[in-house]
Amino acid sequence: MKYVLGYRCSVCDSFYPFKEEMMICPVCKDSGILDLVYDYKNLKKFMRVDYFKENHEYNIWRYKELLPIRNDFIDNSLRVGWTPLYKSNKVSIKYKVDNLYFKDEGMNPTQSLKDRASVIGCIKALEANKRVVCCSSTGNAASSLAGNAAKLGLETVIFVPKRAPIGKLAQLLAFGAKVIKVDGDYKAAYDLSRQAIDKYGFYNRNAAINPNLVEGKKTVAYEIWEQLDYQLTDWVIVSVGDGCTIAGVYKGFFDLKSLGLIEKIPRIMGVQSEGCSPINDAYHNDLVVRESVEDTIADSIAVGIPRNPIKALNAVKNSNGTYLKVSDNEILEALKELGALEGIFAEPAAACSYAGLIKGRKEEVIKDKESVTVIITGNGLKDTKNALTIINEPVDLKNNFQDFIDYMEGERVINE
Ligand SMILES: *Cc1c(COP(=O)(O)O)cnc(C)c1O
Ligand SMILES: [Zn+2]
Repeated sequence: MKYVLGYRCSVCDSFYPFKEEMMICPVCKDSGILDLVYDYKNLKKFMRVDYFKENHEYNIWRYKELLPIRNDFIDNSLRVGWTPLYKSNKVSIKYKVDNLYFKDEGMNPTQSLKDRASVIGCIKALEANKRVVCCSSTGNAASSLAGNAAKLGLETVIFVPKRAPIGKLAQLLAFGAKVIKVDGDYKAAYDLSRQAIDKYGFYNRNAAINPNLVEGKKTVAYEIWEQLDYQLTDWVIVSVGDGCTIAGVYKGFFDLKSLGLIEKIPRIMGVQSEGCSPINDAYHNDLVVRESVEDTIADSIAVGIPRNPIKALNAVKNSNGTYLKVSDNEILEALKELGALEGIFAEPAAACSYAGLIKGRKEEVIKDKESVTVIITGNGLKDTKNALTIINEPVDLKNNFQDFIDYMEGERVINE
C-alpha cells in the first residue's frame, strides 16, 4: 500500500488523499466512482522489466506493490491469477489472425476472472475487521467471493437474481455462503444487497462502486503483457456487463504505460450481447447509458443498468478501441467452436468475447496482420445447460460391440 497516493473521481476529476473505506466521490455521490492513484514516480525507480523477470511469485501477489492492500493476509488466500495464455493454432488459421492469444481466466480458483476482484475484496474486509462480506451478483462475483472468503475465514451473504445458473449456485452453496435468491432481476438483487449492507454493516463487494476491486482485475492486463514477453497485441477483447472488467483491463495497461513499461495501450474491444447492450449502444450513439432489458443466455453480462459505464466507455475511448454486440446464437456458435478448435470450454458470457473476435474479423474492424488477445472470462462448467443446447448429441448405441462396428462403418468421416 506504500505506493497508493489516493483517489481520483471518474466524473469530476477531483483528487482525494488515501483514506480507508472511501467508496465514492463526496461531491458526485453515486455516479462518482473513484479510481486509485499510484505513486508512479517512485515505483518507476525500481519497477523495470527486470523487476518482473526476477519475480518468482506466480499469482496475483506478484503485483502487490501495485495493489491497495496491506500484506498481512495474502499468504492465506487461494491462488488467484497467473492463468494460462495460449497461442491459438486453428482459430488463428480460420480467421487469418497470425498472432492470436487466449487468456484463460476460467483457470482461476473458482473458475472466473472475478477471483481477481474477490480476493482483494476479502483482504480489504479483513483489514477493516469485518466478519461478513456481502454482494449481489448474477453468479461469478458471488461464487468467487464465497470461495475466497471461505479460504480467508470470512462469512458471506449473497443476493442472487432468480435466473442464476445452477453451476454457480452449486459453487456458492458448496463454499458455505448464505444465499438469498431474490424473486427478480439483477437490479432487484443489487438494491436489496445495498440495503442489507447499510443496515448490517457488511463489507461491500459490489464491484462497481468499490474502487479496490477494479485494482484486482487490472492484474490480468499485467499478466498478458508479461506472458507475451513484455510485448502486447494490437487488440485486447473482453466481454462487458457492469463494465468493471474492461475498466480493470484498461487500468492495468494505463499503469504499465505510466510506469514507462509500454509505449501504447492496446485497442480494447468491449463485447456485449444483443439482448442486453446498454454500454455498446451508448458508445455508438450519444454516450448516454439507458436501462436495458436483460434478455440473453450470457447471464454474467446481463446487466440492464451497468454501474460502471463511465469507466467502461473511457476504457474504449482512451484506447482507440470499440464496442461490438453479438447475438445469443453467435455466442453459442462461438462457445462450440472455441471448445472444438482450442480446447477451451467457456461459459456463454466468456464465449461472447470470442464471438466479438469473429464478428470483428468479418466486419474488418480487426484488420489483416493485426494481433489479438481474447480474454476468456469464465469456465463452461458453470453453465452446462446452455452449452448442451448447441454441442453435438452423444451417439446412442446398444451395449454391444457389433453396434459400435456398424456405427463406425457408417461414419466415413472417422474411418478415413
Ligand atoms: C462479470 C463477468 C464479465 C463482465 O464483467 P463486468 O465487470 O460485469 O463488465 C464477463 N464475463 C464473465 C464470465 C463474468 O463473470
Ligand atoms: Zn466527483
